[in-house]
Amino acid sequence: MLKSQDLSSHLMTDFLIIGAGFAGLVAAERLASAGWRCVVVDRRSHLGGNAHDRIDPAGVLVHKYGPHYFRSNSQRVVDYLSRFTGWHEVAYTIKSFTDGRYWSFPINLNTFEEFLGRPSTPEEFTRWLEEHRVPVESPRNSEEVIISQVGRGLYQKFFEGYTIKQWRRHPRELDASVCGRIPIRTNRDDRYLTESFQALPAAGYTAMFENLLAASPRIELHLGVDFEEAKARWNHKHLIYTGEIDAFYGRRFGPLPYRSLRFEHESFTAEELIPRQAISGKPGYWQPAMQVNYPDADVPFTRIVEIKHATGQNVDATTIVREFPKDWKPGEEPYYPVPAPDAKAAYQKYAALAAEEKHTSFIGRLATYRYYNMDQVTAMALTEADRLLALHGTP
Ligand code: FAD
Ligand code: UDP
Repeated sequence: MLKSQDLSSHLMTDFLIIGAGFAGLVAAERLASAGWRCVVVDRRSHLGGNAHDRIDPAGVLVHKYGPHYFRSNSQRVVDYLSRFTGWHEVAYTIKSFTDGRYWSFPINLNTFEEFLGRPSTPEEFTRWLEEHRVPVESPRNSEEVIISQVGRGLYQKFFEGYTIKQWRRHPRELDASVCGRIPIRTNRDDRYLTESFQALPAAGYTAMFENLLAASPRIELHLGVDFEEAKARWNHKHLIYTGEIDAFYGRRFGPLPYRSLRFEHESFTAEELIPRQAISGKPGYWQPAMQVNYPDADVPFTRIVEIKHATGQNVDATTIVREFPKDWKPGEEPYYPVPAPDAKAAYQKYAALAAEEKHTSFIGRLATYRYYNMDQVTAMALTEADRLLALHGTP
């Protein structure tokens, strides 16, 4: 891998790739392995896009842009990434905090027992759900998908307030897939996610991407360089763009809606954590789970993440991160495309332009305006690299 110092001498490349997140780096690695020269630029000063992690001043490995729980049902994706990292298996478990107490979450038999204040059984919980759920044949939005499974009471307790805070939209205005991705179970399985493979890169995402680059001598990386500058600097055969699609087209049909976030990091020494032990249940931790969700409307943040629970890092201090959702304006970080019918319709205008491009590929979460996880973005980049290699062959 070549680094930013080599800037002036490389003005020609085969593939110019905008964005050093999962989409850009995976595509670059595949193309470079086939012999093509790739220049990857990112306007940020680091690798990994939103999955970037780093050791903070307290010595804790933190996910800079919110928690990134790797999970996948795709053996191809897991095998591919395993070339660049070992894995630390994690049973991602979280809690919800409302009515002044912690609840087992996502909703499962333990939650039901906490709600009843006595032991119960899967059969009793199933009967209770049958009595309380609101029959909806095919749920069309995020309210219907939850009330059709658990009824209005549990929906209002755990989902409505959280969703309105997160998206500043009512669950009725969001695709069913938004809240529908949270499992509801009548057994005691309280894992947050459903995928068969659930693990974090053993040394972190940034280390994984550094290994990917180290294995790719034909990738040139330039951090702190944006698209306009890169376009002017490198002639290229093909462009791979992983930024916001509306920005690519100068937002000519108006900006697409995105949701942004403000992250508030707070670190604690081992000594400061002593009084928290009654709550966290173990020394060296601030809260009882990796993530605690706060669905109440009067709490301004949606969740507090203490990633040390998941990384298993052996360090005395800890860091917690509070997430405050906020409106997005051009120039700010567009963390989430908005998974709603009106936003998708607005995206279609840009998608139609993109479909006409012969020498540009649009991949990743922002360029395809999809609420995609890291493994889905990896799969998309692998598929696009295969397509490009079929088209262009090898040099
Ligand atoms: P990004 O990671 O956004 O990378 C795109 C890169 O392009 C960025 O670094 C950006 O700076 C750069 N770029 C954009 N425009 C330009 C430009 N004009 N010039 C130069 N550079 C540019 N996924 C999971 O699987 N599990 C999770 O638990 C999870 N949690 C998440 C939590 C949060 C808060 C967020 C926001 C996302 C989460 N995700 C999670 C999704 C995950 O972040 C994405 O799937 C993945 O990072 C997408 O990779 P990408 O390369 O498409 O985009
Ligand atoms: N959600 C909720 N209550 C919760 C957790 C999630 O209402 O306690 C809803 C909310 O709309 C959220 C969506 O489910 O945006 C998906 O949650 P997830 O934790 O997967 O979101 P992400 O990690 O992508 O922000």
